[in-house]
Amino acid sequence: MPGDSWAATDRMNARRTNWAGNITFSAERFHRPASAGELQRLVAGTRRIRALGTGHSFSRIADCPGDLVSVAGLPKVIQIDPGRATVTVSAGLRYGELAERLNEAGWALRNLGSLPHISVAGACATGTHGSGDANGNLATAVSALELVTADGDIVLLSRDSDAAALAGAVVGLGALGIVTSLTLDLVPAFAIRQYVYQGLPRDQLDEHLESIFASGYSVSLFTDWRGPKIRQVWRKCLAGERDPGLPGPGRWLGAELADGPRHPVPGMSAVHCTEQRGVLGPWQLRLPHFRPEFTPGSGAELQSEYLVPREHAIEALAAVGRIRGRVAPALQISEIRTVAADDLWLSPSYQRPSVAIHFTWIRDPEAVAPALAAIEDQLAPFGARPHWGKLFSVSPAVLGGLYQRLPDFQRLRGEFDPAGKFGNELVDSYVPASRPPATSRPADRQLRPGQPTASARARPAHRGQFRTGRCAPQ
Ligand SMILES: Cc1cc2nc3c(=O)[nH]c(=O)nc-3n(C[C@H](O)[C@H](O)[C@H](O)COP(=O)(O)OP(=O)(O)OC[C@H]3O[C@@H](n4cnc5c(N)ncnc54)[C@H](O)[C@@H]3O)c2cc1C
Repeated sequence: MPGDSWAATDRMNARRTNWAGNITFSAERFHRPASAGELQRLVAGTRRIRALGTGHSFSRIADCPGDLVSVAGLPKVIQIDPGRATVTVSAGLRYGELAERLNEAGWALRNLGSLPHISVAGACATGTHGSGDANGNLATAVSALELVTADGDIVLLSRDSDAAALAGAVVGLGALGIVTSLTLDLVPAFAIRQYVYQGLPRDQLDEHLESIFASGYSVSLFTDWRGPKIRQVWRKCLAGERDPGLPGPGRWLGAELADGPRHPVPGMSAVHCTEQRGVLGPWQLRLPHFRPEFTPGSGAELQSEYLVPREHAIEALAAVGRIRGRVAPALQISEIRTVAADDLWLSPSYQRPSVAIHFTWIRDPEAVAPALAAIEDQLAPFGARPHWGKLFSVSPAVLGGLYQRLPDFQRLRGEFDPAGKFGNELVDSYVPASRPPATSRPADRQLRPGQPTASARARPAHRGQFRTGRCAPQ
């Protein structure tokens, strides 16, 4: 178990900044309850509160002017149900920790993001994704979730009994409550190998984009937008798939098989990267780009990402290419991935098979801001949806037009959190709650932590629709 790097993230949380250090959280108090009851009392007794995962978001999405709470101190749960092929996990668990345990038990998640250090709840809340034509984002694995709502009650939403609300709540931006556990779909454990190719000519990409992304279970392209070639293609292929690297001269569509391990960012050592060169290994040590035991606890970078409909991929890439002179100086590297369509209301890949165009910037907000604005202008005609956890500057009006189910989410927010307890500046500007009629709105109240009032124990208005677990703070 890579204990050191997990501890590094904990130290980062103790510093009260996000991973990149570009955000100092404005919360007055930080909490790490050790039991569900403690969390329930805290939520019931606090006027403004939000959950903080592992703090890997670059946007202000996790911030809160009142209280921030981490659920990482709640008892760790990893409960596999082999009959249903699911696992129920505590929300604060990191994918790296979970994946090891799943693999030992013969199970796998269908996909992972590039970094194993992020929490399950935090990743799902923002629609975090990996790559793969047939792979939805990580939130698509969620079949149930349990959350502490505004008055301290615990609500369970499941695909079986509350499919619509679950579809709204999974990519929930932390705006509906504090998630305490999630149930995830599993597949049998699988082995995978990854190959890195270098120098894919740009015209080959335009001509063969579909087959390039179809050439592996998960495929990522890396470019710095500086030259006529895509710097690297990372192909992650299932053990049973035709071995793409061998036999042969090691050339593919004009790109060359790398003769040693590579890091996506030019000039950086590949020692932190997962094993390459076609060495077969378990899914959790090949799907992320970075090894769990080595990733640093903070990083000198900023990130942005935009998801565009798959059918516009070539035009969208060409549009970014036209402003390469404005992008490249602030850029470390860009990654291009594919994400399957889903039905999660606030997912950037909602009902759109997508191409995700990602930018790892230098950590210089002033240099990044104009590049970001230029990219957003270029990608606007394609209805590009920004990643919720990364930097973006599109206006609430524009973003609102990109999400058909936004009004439904706003209603859900109004229903779950009528007093806006879980709001923050970002969430309130992009997804303001639709308030229920004043007569049915519970009074905004300030309770003492650990001393919920009788009304905090009462059945909330919306709970009639959802299965509930322990309903009163204990
Ligand atoms: C180095 C690096 C690599 C990355 N790679 C990828 C990648 O490959 N793909 C990708 O899509 N993204 C990637 N990201 C972005 C990252 O996955 C997201 O920002 C993700 O949300 C971070 O998870 P977190 O646990 O740190 O959440 P945080 O940043 O702490 O919080 C994010 C949101 O989740 C909410 N939240 C957290 N916990 C809970 C809870 N228990 N209940 C309710 N809401 C909760 C917060 O309130 C907040 O709104 C990367 C980020 C970094 C720093």
